[in-house]
Formats: sequence, structure tokens, C-alpha cells
Amino acid sequence: MLRIALPNKGRLADEARELFNDAGLEVRVRSERALTASLGGIFEALFVRAQDIPEFVADGAADAGVTGLDLISESDRQLHILSDLEFGRCRLVVAATDESGITSVDLIPASARVATVFPRLAERFFAGVGRKDISIVPVSGAAEIAPHIGIADIIVDLVSTGSTLRTNGLHEVTTVLTSTAHLITAPELMRAGDDGSLQEKGSALQELVAALSSVLRARDKRYLMANVPRGKLEDIRRILPGLNGPTVVDIMDGGEHVAVHAVVDASTIYRTIAALKNFGAEGILVTRIERLMP
Ligand code: AMP
Repeated sequence: MLRIALPNKGRLADEARELFNDAGLEVRVRSERALTASLGGIFEALFVRAQDIPEFVADGAADAGVTGLDLISESDRQLHILSDLEFGRCRLVVAATDESGITSVDLIPASARVATVFPRLAERFFAGVGRKDISIVPVSGAAEIAPHIGIADIIVDLVSTGSTLRTNGLHEVTTVLTSTAHLITAPELMRAGDDGSLQEKGSALQELVAALSSVLRARDKRYLMANVPRGKLEDIRRILPGLNGPTVVDIMDGGEHVAVHAVVDASTIYRTIAALKNFGAEGILVTRIERLMP
């Protein structure tokens, strides 16, 4: 059995569940408040708070976990990162009140106090920029209030859209860390030696990474099919590189057209379609890809 700790609520929970579902590891909960759920086969989910996941994985209560890089770094535990899952993007920033006039770290007054839910990361950051004089005021949430009630001068907090900072009359001074959700495991599991059960877990982890990666890889790609004039194939090869060049399939129209199939970037699909049309392409079809294993 490979137990994977997943966030039970908050920003990361829904997207983690969606990624696992897409990878064929469907979360089968017995009830909405269940602490564990089968993911099919040997995989089991354990639902816990995102901030507890680094501890659970480091202590072996779970074999792997999905949580934010911010929380992984703050935990200061020895963990092995298996993959960047690319969702839950946010930044940990230093922010100051608009009326403070602080626009750079140099302008933060001597011996200023910083309120944060991330005391270790904040301390490490200020030490790294030569500001050991700044003291940390740990809070368990709502750091953005701290400068307004006089318990701190600045804050270090997570920002996604930036609207929480703006609403509270704060602005960013600098970025401490950029974060996304990551899949982690304990270093011991990566060193699985002769122990049979560890070896089994090691290969289950590899299976998990391969399944999740194949979905992530496919998310920003599309499968494109089009009928093109045979005489334009060389031009079309230049705009449809595909994974190994486009697949070319005969069409029973006397040889005038061929069908080309290729995997293309979703972000440039409209440009690709326009270029194909310029070369006389017809019957263009674009579909999503569930998984991509190069
Ligand atoms: P926003 O107003 O979109 O900048 O969001 C800021 C608030 O949401 C802050 O209070 C953060 O603590 C929280 N937040 C933003 N992004 C994340 C994330 N990826 N994970 C956890 N909390 C987040």
C-alpha cells in the first residue's frame, strides 16, 4: 500500500484531486469527511491540512504527499521532491503599508518587526539580504492585519492575485519565494535498498510520478488533424513539427490530399491553424490529450 497525503481543504485540495482523477487515480471517498480514501490498486489517499503534509511525509505517516513548496520549505524537514505539479501558483512576498513609503528592502527601517505565518523562511530571507536586525512576529493567519494594529511594521505573506494586499492597503516590496504544489517523499524511500517492502514502495512511487507527469505533459498540448494538399507537405512539416514530425496518412481521394496528425502546443494553436489554412488545409480537428508519454 502506498499512502499519499493530500490537502483536505483550501486552494490546493480541489486541484490535487482533479489531477489524481485525470491520472486514473480516482479519489473514492466513503463520505465527505473521511480521512482516507482508496485511489485504486495499491494507492490510498490520506486527507490532512496542507501545512501538516511535510511533517507527515518526513515522519513516515504517509509515503508521499502533495503540498505547496512554500510549506515544504518552511517545514525545514529533509524531503525529496519528486515533481512540480504546476498548480497552486503563488508567491511569498515582503509587503508594506502604502503610507510607509517602503518600496525596497533597503528602505525597511532598522529593527522593523515582520508578521508572518512563515517565520523560518522570513528569517532566512532577511538574514540572506543582510538584515538580521529585522525581528519576526509569528502569526497563525491574517498577517495582512498586523501592520494596521501595530503588532508589526511589515509582513511576509502569500500572494496569488494580489487583491488581499490591495484591499488591506499594502503593496509588494520584493518576492521571497515562488511556489507551486509539489509531490514529495521521504529521502529514505528514494534509497530503497534490499528491504522488499521499500523496494515495492519505490516502484509504486515511480508509477505515481509517471502517471501524474503524463497528465501534466498533456495539459498544454493538443492533438491536431488536418487534410492538406500533398504538394505542401514540406511547408507543413515546418509548422507541424509534432513529437517526431507529423504522422502522414493517405486519403482515398486519388492522392491529391493527405491527412496530417501532430501534437502541438495549446498556447500557439490559433497561429498553427492560421498557418495551416494558408497552405490550403481543410477539415482541421483539434482534440485534448489525456496523457502523453514520450
Ligand atoms: P490573493 O488575494 O489572491 O493575492 O490571495 C492572497 C491570500 O490567499 C493570502 O491570504 C494567502 O495566504 C492565500 N493564498 C494565495 N495563494 C495561495 C496558495 N497557493 N496556497 C495557500 N494560500 C494561498
